[in-house]
Amino acid sequence: MIRLTLRPLHAGILATAALALGGCATVRGAPSSGGTRPAGFQILAINDFHGNLEVPTQQTTWYGSQAAVPGGEQRAVLGGAAPLAAKLAALRQGQANTITVGAGDLISASPLISAYYLDEPSIAALSQMGLELAAVGNHEFDRGTDELRRLQDGGCGKNTPREPCALEPFSGAGFSYLAANVLDDNGQTLFPGTAMRRFGDVDVGFIGMTLKGTPQVSSPAGTAGWRFADEADTANRLAAELTAQGADLVVLLLHQGATVEGMFRADDCAGLDGPVLPILERLSPAIPLVISGHTHNAYVCRMPMAGGGERLLTSAGRYGAFVSDIRVSRDAAGRWTMDAINVPVKSDGGEMAGVAALVARYATATQAVANRVIGRIDGSLERGMQVDSPLARLVADAQLAATRPPEAGGADIAFINQGGVRAAFQPAADGSVTFGQIFTLQPFSNTLEVKALTGAALLALLEQQFGETAEDGTILIPSTGFTFTFDRTRPVGQRIVAATLNGEPLDPARTYRVTVNNFLAAGGDGFTSLAPAPSVAHGGVDVDALAAFIAAGVTVDPLARVIDAGAAAPVQ
Ligand SMILES: [Zn+2]
Repeated sequence: MIRLTLRPLHAGILATAALALGGCATVRGAPSSGGTRPAGFQILAINDFHGNLEVPTQQTTWYGSQAAVPGGEQRAVLGGAAPLAAKLAALRQGQANTITVGAGDLISASPLISAYYLDEPSIAALSQMGLELAAVGNHEFDRGTDELRRLQDGGCGKNTPREPCALEPFSGAGFSYLAANVLDDNGQTLFPGTAMRRFGDVDVGFIGMTLKGTPQVSSPAGTAGWRFADEADTANRLAAELTAQGADLVVLLLHQGATVEGMFRADDCAGLDGPVLPILERLSPAIPLVISGHTHNAYVCRMPMAGGGERLLTSAGRYGAFVSDIRVSRDAAGRWTMDAINVPVKSDGGEMAGVAALVARYATATQAVANRVIGRIDGSLERGMQVDSPLARLVADAQLAATRPPEAGGADIAFINQGGVRAAFQPAADGSVTFGQIFTLQPFSNTLEVKALTGAALLALLEQQFGETAEDGTILIPSTGFTFTFDRTRPVGQRIVAATLNGEPLDPARTYRVTVNNFLAAGGDGFTSLAPAPSVAHGGVDVDALAAFIAAGVTVDPLARVIDAGAAAPVQ
């Protein structure tokens, strides 16, 4: 366990708090000796749970100084909501003052068992296991803020194409989301930015927030109308407010993080690097504890603060594999000490019955959904994670097929962004494909949009695939009949050397109807030229289009549609 004793300058800052406490302590009937009473509390923290309700089949490897093997390497199956709930309960044993918090991305980008039900079972499980406060992360915005508000407040209002309350009523989160840096036009936050908790005679202020870059990594529609303010500026302002309101200590729940060697570390932070570091550099010493997330790494880190003193930085990996057990105590002289360790959530630690029953209920319901054979695919989908892959071409073709009829939009071409193909799968020996397989491939329930673009605008869109440098960029994989050739060595804006539809070069003056998912339609992945193009039709959910396409019978197209002239070969 890392032990952090606050050093002189920092202790000086906290001495102010301790003095203030001393004053209050008199009111609260503390001993009249004038000394500060010993005090302590526990914070249990998780992050990036991503709806991982079930115990995984794969083992996790992690590193810690307490391991009895060379190099400190350990390996076990970690995670699952019911073992996580049991572990949290066990860690709280004997703790008079304890709180459980989250640092973002607890939901979305989740497996079918949670995603199919709009993450309602994950919200319920996290509530049952005693989560109290949770910073929003970028993925909390995937389905928009109306839907996120529903997850907080409960109810069965329909904000997405998927059916809410599909299995049982939904009463909302038993914990409070914090969103200190998510602001509307009037400067109002989406959820409260802070919360105050009293542990014994200590007042602790909590600030919760997501990374300011959330709009760049989210569906534009999900964050439209909201401003994501700078993390350090926001935290410093609120820390001062909380201190003025009497907080003895301020804790930041921040959905931004770092990476470490080996990804998961129980009690150190070897090789620490990442986007949280410049934020910490600007953070007020009034915030000596930062509980972070987003990178899916696990670490416990003691870091020097500008002006002296040390700060504790933690993160608990992902998917409920670890819990950060943070202990904060104050001795009779008023000095604060912090300890933290990432406790692995092993399956042999028991399960919490209520959470296990909830997961079992949804697992049973999901099995029927997941195992349903939707159709057959003739051919191999091997190399499924390559950019212009048989799998990506299949998705693009499905989206074209769904929107090609005149009444569905009359589409000429469909594009899928390379990031929209989330996982590879292979049909069974008889070619059969299940709904569970394609849901893993397209878990976001994006909807289809048909846009009208001139040939000139379409060429401009294709140019937006490439960035300033030759390495930058993200590829759009086209539907059948459309191919394009690019050359990264050419100047920006001139990388496309050929683009044809059914063998004919694009006509700059003609209007084409182009189908994309709503993520791209709103300008996602940097395809800003798509947002202003007029929408001529709205389609259904992407995964449903794919299911219908496969149900009609599919033969894999082995031919590349995206050609890299520089490589003189298809884009692999
Ligand atoms: Zn994240």
